[in-house]
Order: sequence, then C-alpha cells, then structure tokens
Amino acid sequence: MTTQTLGLKPNLYQYLLSVSGREPEILTQLRQETAQHPMGRMQIAPEQGQLMSLLVQLIAANKTLEVGVFTGYSTLVVALALPKTGKVVACDTSEEYTAIARRYWQQAGVSEKIDLHIAPAMETLDRLLANGETETFDFAFIDADKSNYDSYYERSLQLVRPGGLIAIDNVLWSGRVADIQVQDNRTKKIRAFNQKLHQDSRVTLSLIPIADGLTLARKN
Ligand code: CA
Repeated sequence: MTTQTLGLKPNLYQYLLSVSGREPEILTQLRQETAQHPMGRMQIAPEQGQLMSLLVQLIAANKTLEVGVFTGYSTLVVALALPKTGKVVACDTSEEYTAIARRYWQQAGVSEKIDLHIAPAMETLDRLLANGETETFDFAFIDADKSNYDSYYERSLQLVRPGGLIAIDNVLWSGRVADIQVQDNRTKKIRAFNQKLHQDSRVTLSLIPIADGLTLARKN
C-alpha cells in the first residue's frame, strides 16, 4: 500500500502536486492526522482523492457508496464533491477509525450527507439490495479487505445504475501483483480480481496507475 503514486521519482511527484494539487485545507489536516496513525498507510493519496472528486462531478453523482471508510478521507472528498442533496452510504467495521472520520465530516459541514453503517460491508450491501436500492447509486468506491473485493464488486455492480462508475483501490498492490514470487492470499485475490475484470463485458474498464492503482469500471 502507498500514500502516493507508485513509481514516480520524489521530485516528479512533488512537481505534480505543485502544479495540480488542490487539496482543501480540511483534507490536508485529516491526511496529516491520519499519517500519524499506526495504520496511516491505508489512506489514499491526495492526487487520487482529487481524481475521484473530478469523476464524481463529471458523472453528476448524487448518491454514492463507499466500502471501507478508515479515517474518512475519501468519504470527505466525495461528500464535498456532491451537490447539497447528495448522499454517501459508507460502510466500515471500526468505531475507532471512523470516530476520526466523523470529527472531520462535522468540521467540514458534510455530516448530513454521510450515512455511516458500522457493520460488515457485505451485510450493509445485502440490506441495500433487499431494500430495493438496486441501480440507485451513481458511484461506488471499494477500498476494504481485499479478500472480499469480488463480493463487494458484484454487489456494487447491482447497486450502481447503468452509466454509473465503480472505483476499486489498491489494484496494483505496491507492485506485488506483477511479482510471481509473491503468492500470499491477498495478492492472489487481487490478481484474480484484476483478471476477472479484464474479461468482464458488463463494464467499460480502465486501470489508472495513480497511487496504488485505481481501477475504474463503468457499468454498461
Ligand atoms: Ca486503499
């Protein structure tokens, strides 16, 4: 995992940020606080957040899904990009990490847009489907336990409307997906997931080598 784009030399990465970084102050504060956290490397990169904000605005999203909140950086990015009526349905299992998230959402004035469910994401997604929310979401961001990526993806694909977008994080997995010496379970799951999406005609696909690798899948 990485909190900046893989493979860019530090001076080029700094240059990229210096000419394109537009991180709002509240997100900078949250990123800095999260960097001090023992699990801080789970946070997405600022340039990735900026891309997601642009994507959410491009598709004029109003209702979005997030699987894996952690300290809430990506949730906040999306909530800030949504219109006033927008809604993020966010899933996480940690009260501890999301307490940090809630503090920043409050401070940014977007708490009312965010509906946080503390439960295994699979349960929340299944409940959304059972509640008849199929094809009501415009955007989904999947960034949680890698062993369940395929299940999260399949459920998100049902929940997102045709023309909606699913973004899946960490698909380059610090480069380990391309190293055949690496055969641990999580790496194998991500490899299998990437291969499956490559053949998946239900979506239009692009794997963006930003941060730790972000796959964009548009539901056809
Ligand atoms: Ca991630």
